[in-house]
Parts: sequence; structure tokens; C-alpha cells
Amino acid sequence: QRIGFAIVGLGRLSLNQILPAFGHSQYCKPVALVSGDREKALKVAGQYGIAPTAIYNYANFDQLGKNPEVKVIYVVLPNGMHEEYVVRGARTGKHILCEKPMATGSREAEHMISACKEAKVKLMIAYRQQYEPHNLALRQLVTEGKLGALRGFVSSNSQQQGDPTQWRLKKSLSGGGCLPDVGLYCLNASRFLSGEEPTEVMATIFQPKDDPRFTEVEASCSFSLKFPSGFAATCTTSYDVHKSQFLRLEGTKAWADMSPAYGYHGNRLKWSHLDGDRETEIVPQIEEEDQFALEMDHFAECILEGKTPHTPGEEGLKDHRIMEAIYDSARTRRIVVVST
Ligand code: NAD
Repeated sequence: QRIGFAIVGLGRLSLNQILPAFGHSQYCKPVALVSGDREKALKVAGQYGIAPTAIYNYANFDQLGKNPEVKVIYVVLPNGMHEEYVVRGARTGKHILCEKPMATGSREAEHMISACKEAKVKLMIAYRQQYEPHNLALRQLVTEGKLGALRGFVSSNSQQQGDPTQWRLKKSLSGGGCLPDVGLYCLNASRFLSGEEPTEVMATIFQPKDDPRFTEVEASCSFSLKFPSGFAATCTTSYDVHKSQFLRLEGTKAWADMSPAYGYHGNRLKWSHLDGDRETEIVPQIEEEDQFALEMDHFAECILEGKTPHTPGEEGLKDHRIMEAIYDSARTRRIVVVST
């Protein structure tokens, strides 16, 4: 029996990635939709075999609690709406999967965690890269000691954002500019690939005065993270750069490179080490799989087996605390200690 999901918000991610991913999932199926546009929802419901009676809107969202087919509410709304729909969702008694970034700040993230605890439901943040095969292979190289002791991480995740009216450029709906949206991938990768937490942050941001896209949020951000072992991450992110997505992890024995990284498709991993006195480059053969299906299946397994998700709300909260330190550092032009 498959775990039934209610998808909240029928934007690009839901329509182009999440709903199609159910076709690759082992344990999940879409059983309900929440949308402000009933016509669109009816059409989508027809495509995925969802009953018209299982279409909800933002006003009657709480009625999801009365639908026994729904076991998970997957919140795929603008970031500034995550807190409200996660908290209301938890109160319906359903488990919650929430898109990244978890919220618009650590206070909101803490509220979401406590609401899910109070309602005794599971909360998972959709960090798809932590379920993606190339990233898992890289993490395995690290845990097997193939790279030696980690010393450096260099990464960028950037893309152009065109339409100045979109929610991603409105602070109340986004929580920030490129940092929480795409820079978050670099930040999260530095943590999960190393298995360490940064203690200090230094950052700069750029917000041009003459570009109508960036009246409320930053266009670019670069940040450095210092980890207790001596590992350090240097990352850049921008909404005003041609799509650029890569990471390089440097250890005492080898380096590993993913370029492109962070995409839905086409990640490429290679690593290089000394074999005797010869530098040897290895390109592991890794089969691409649907990251969204893997991520949803993980949550379904956690529900079926009573386990805590690999990326619970606390994982999202940690990133929010670090992003707050990044903004703080850029503002004060100082090194900022990450609060725990
Ligand atoms: P989108 O703009 O394409 O869709 C947002 C949806 O929310 C639309 O259906 C819109 O109608 C609805 N909505 C309801 N109230 C709204 C309001 N007040 N303002 C604007 N839209 C409103 O966005 P998206 O790209 O689908 O992103 C949704 C969430 O998914 C975000 O949290 C984003 O960060 C996340 N996301 C994650 C990934 C990933 O790879 N995991 C990729 C893209 C987006």
C-alpha cells in the first residue's frame, strides 16, 4: 500500500518535477491537491488520477485532516508561506514534507519544528541532493577516507532571475535573494559532505541600486565557513550570473569535483588521487535516478518504519542559523560566530 501525498501549491516545481516523480516512486502516490486555481487543479487531478473531491484550496486546506487517504502534506509554496502551511498542516495530524529553504528565518523554523512535535507528526525538509546518487557516492568517498582529511570546499550555485515581479525577489515571500534559494545548496552540501558544522562565517553581499530586480533582496553573495577540524568552505551564489553550478571538495589525499552539480539531471562526479607517483583521475559510473522520487520514498519509509527522516526540521533550522550569520557578517563586515 502506497503512502498518499497532498501536494500544496501547483507551481513549476510541483508540475514539472514532483508530480511526475510519483511515476518513479516505490512507496508514494499523489491523492490530493491544494491550489488557489480550481480549473488548473482539476486539469492536473485528471492527469494523475486524483478525485475532484480531493482538491482543496487555501481556505479549506484544514479539511485535509478528514481525508484518510492523505498521510503526507507536501508544502511547495513560496518560502514565506511555509511556516503557515506547515503549522496548519501539522494540526491536521498529517506528516509534513516541506520544500527548501525551510522558512524565512530561524524563528519561523523553530515554530514549525515545535508545531510538528506538539502534533506528534514527522517533519522532513526536501533537501533532494542528500538523496541523490552522485552526492551519496561523494559522501561515501569521504566516509571511506578516500579523500583523506577534508581541508577545502569551493562551490557556486548561480543563475539569472529575470522577472522583477516574481515572489523570489520579494523579501516577505522569499526571506532573501540568491542565498536562501540557490546558495543554500552550497551551504548544505558543505555540511552534509563533510559531516561537520561550521562555527564561524565571513560574508559579503552585493545589491545593486539601479537594478529593479534587486530592490528588496541581494543579487550576489559570497561566504566563507570555518569548521572546527580546519576544513573551510568558500562559496558564491548569484541571481545575476549565467547558470553556474559546481563543487570541489579537497582532502589531504585526493580531490573530488562535481560539475555540473545541484541540478535535477546531469550531475557529473570525478575524483583524483595519487596512485604511486601517478595522478589518477576516476570517473565513477553512477546511474541517474529521480531525486524527488528517492526523497519522497525516504519519507514514506520513515513513516512506515517509525523512523526520523534523514533531513528533519532541525536540518533546515541549522541552515537558517548559518544564513542569518552570513547576512550578519555581510552587514557588520565582521566574522560572525554561528549560534547553536
Ligand atoms: P512557483 O512560483 O513556480 O510556484 C509557487 C506556487 O505557489 C504557484 O502555484 C502559486 O500560484 C502559489 N502561490 C500561492 N500563493 C502565492 C503567493 N502569495 N505568491 C506567489 N505564489 C503563490 O515556485 P516554485 O519554483 O514551484 O517554488 C515553490 C517552492 O519550492 C519554494 O519554496 C522553492 O524554494 C522550492 N523549490 C525547490 C526546488 C528543489 O529543487 N527542491 C526547486 C524549485 C523550487
